Amino acid sequence: MIGKDNDPLMIEYYEKKIYDQKQLIEISKALNSTLDYKYLIDAILNICLAQLQTLSAAIFLSPEADSNYFELEPSFKGFDLSDDDVTFRIKTDAPLITFLETKLKAMTPDQVEEAMGLSPELQFLRKIGGDLIIPLNAKGKVNGLLLLGEKITLGEWMEEDRDFLTTLSTLAGIAVENSRLYELATVDMMTGLKVHHYFQTKLKEEMERSRKKRSGLALLFTDVDNFKKFNDTHGHQAGDEVLIAVAKKLIESAGKHDIAARYGGEEFCLVMPGADLKRGFEMGERIRKAVEASSIPNPNGGPDFKVTLSIGVSEIWQADRNNKDLIERADKALYEAKHSGKNRTIPYQPTSTNPN
Ligand code: GH3
Ligand code: MG
Ligand code: MG
Repeated sequence: MIGKDNDPLMIEYYEKKIYDQKQLIEISKALNSTLDYKYLIDAILNICLAQLQTLSAAIFLSPEADSNYFELEPSFKGFDLSDDDVTFRIKTDAPLITFLETKLKAMTPDQVEEAMGLSPELQFLRKIGGDLIIPLNAKGKVNGLLLLGEKITLGEWMEEDRDFLTTLSTLAGIAVENSRLYELATVDMMTGLKVHHYFQTKLKEEMERSRKKRSGLALLFTDVDNFKKFNDTHGHQAGDEVLIAVAKKLIESAGKHDIAARYGGEEFCLVMPGADLKRGFEMGERIRKAVEASSIPNPNGGPDFKVTLSIGVSEIWQADRNNKDLIERADKALYEAKHSGKNRTIPYQPTSTNPN
């Protein structure tokens, strides 16, 4: 842009630039303040809708850290998509991605076609209404695609919008990468449950919060019944299938704010912020019954497996000095569940020598 320093157009141009830079700082703060994957994706999409003249935005990411394709994140905004569209995959080594990696900037489908011809992936993005394609990147590698729909004003995308998006794509790409690494470090690969260390940290945090807010907190400990024998009879691999199935029931039953973790081996736990002993017990029963009712396919081809769980429940007491007390009570209740016949949920009741 050419003009004198006091040219009103120049002033407007720089004011817009300053505004965009300020926005980017705010956005950078927002994206770095969360490691929660779903929340992060939603934040990126909402930023696009708020900052740019469009009503539709979508993100394609690898579902797992080691997947060799990108898939649409279900929280896309505005696009009207069929079931087939939603499951469309873009290989991470597709020519479109390799091409975008050499550019790392926002491009329209027309520009991409002009530079590299028409590929099935590009055809797909155009078909669903994509009007601007922005590769997300971390350390120079494309780790996702951001797709925007048509501008409301139906004009061309402006240079400033594209610059803004190019910067956003790096901020978002790094935030996605960080959140991925965090997930890898805190989630048990086999079961999808949080790891022990994460559980301990979160439990401390939640107990602190519960004390401040004077709200409840329940803790469940689950343990597979007669699992040694199961392993001896069916083998360790079949045992792993059981643990995966049990973890799935635990995750499915857990509420949005509950934390399902692998305490160790075949012992899992669930932290329920805000819940009392009664709700903890009800949750325990729900999980126990779900496991009791399920059949786990036998990887060796024989009849399906059936297993049961014993569950101990405790709730936070004002007198608790630390998380050890709460864990100890859940463990004692679990012990009682085992010794009174297994396949049951036992809440730890306060006694006269153990007043709440
Ligand atoms: P109880 O009903 O009293 O719980 O009896 P149990 O046989 O289940 O006893 P315990 O809970 O002590 O058994 C733990 C067993 O769980 C021993 C170990 O071999 C098995 N286990 C722990 N982690 C894993 C795992 O990752 N995979 C498999 N297959 N087995 C595991
Ligand atoms: Mg055990
Ligand atoms: Mg056991």
